[in-house]
Amino acid sequence: MDKDKVIYFDNNATTRTAPEVADAMMPYFSDLYGNPSSMHFFGGQIGRVLEKAREQVAAFLNCRADEILFTSCASESDNTALFGSAAWYGKDMKVITSAVEHPAILQPARRLKAMGHAEVELKVDSVGQPDLDQLREELKGTRNALVSVMWANNETGTIMPVEEIAAIAKAAGAIVHTDAVQAAGKIPLDMQKVPVDMLSISGHKFHAPKGVGVLFVRRGTKVKPFLVGGHQENARRAGTENVPYIVGLAKACELAQANMENENTILARLRDKLEAGLLASCPDTIVNGDRAHRLPNTLNVSFEYIEGEAIVYHLSDLGICVSTGSACASGSLDPSHVIRAMGVPFVALHGSTRFSLSRYNTEEEIDYALAEIPKVIKHLRDLSPFGPGKNVTTF
Ligand code: PLP
Repeated sequence: MDKDKVIYFDNNATTRTAPEVADAMMPYFSDLYGNPSSMHFFGGQIGRVLEKAREQVAAFLNCRADEILFTSCASESDNTALFGSAAWYGKDMKVITSAVEHPAILQPARRLKAMGHAEVELKVDSVGQPDLDQLREELKGTRNALVSVMWANNETGTIMPVEEIAAIAKAAGAIVHTDAVQAAGKIPLDMQKVPVDMLSISGHKFHAPKGVGVLFVRRGTKVKPFLVGGHQENARRAGTENVPYIVGLAKACELAQANMENENTILARLRDKLEAGLLASCPDTIVNGDRAHRLPNTLNVSFEYIEGEAIVYHLSDLGICVSTGSACASGSLDPSHVIRAMGVPFVALHGSTRFSLSRYNTEEEIDYALAEIPKVIKHLRDLSPFGPGKNVTTF
């Protein structure tokens, strides 16, 4: 393995922009710079490009083009779904999310609580699946409820039963949003099959650049704009559209749609090889998440008795990029709220490490990782005062 090579196993944090995507974007940085809202021909042609991109994204989600709202990122999409619904329904809206949501949902939900709305975070079980009996209970007697449960978890890859959640919520008259950021490009998202009212995705998680997202808003959904000002996006989101990035996002949707099945088979095989190899070579290692319902690219393991941060830094020295907790939560030494909510044993809480693959990873990289990681884990365990055979058997 080339010693300067980057082995990037952190694709749930962000992905490489696909070369096809970068190529598609280029003209809109230079010659084709018109404003899509302008009335003259120069802007008008860009307006048509924007609408074509909207149609491509709609094809990806199997919905109507006028149900696609372009945003600056999924955090904006998530904030719009929650604050935009609350702005419509007023103070008596109840927000129901899950304990393992991304901060882009949890923080707006908690802010709504501080503003006087009822807010509940559903418990999850040991593999990260939300408690649907609690959901049914919390929906009883509600007038205006918004249920927002993620399609797939960013840390563990656990895929939630969004179709069932939406059916339960709709039967109780609630509005349903799902953060599908980690699901997009990895599993099919079909808005004709899954009756959610709103759904968020982010370009940079599936090979478009950072700084562009989508909020799907089903026709008839009552949601007020989060960004106000101009009349862009059919008066639902102010701000001149980021045309090059939107074109890139549409291209990324097209690529994902064309290659998903094939890529998933390859990714799952590489991920499973990594998982089996690590479990075989590193004792006291557990897999976090729902192995029966999991994104094909994601593996989250806890190496017991050692710290995730130390693992990340040691692997980084070898050119291997992984993460502990979510990318957005790193910088804090607290164990991940996701792993904690799943009730993972204390000795394993701090050593959770996420490997997330993409179409650009290779078997050679997996082999290199499997040769190096067990040495790092052994080294860190030798240094650790904790663990079996040590004076201190727990943190
Ligand atoms: N939701 C989930 C599940 C995520 O993983 C992320 C990014 O890590 C976000 C939302 C935020 O996405 P963005 O970076 O586009 O704001």
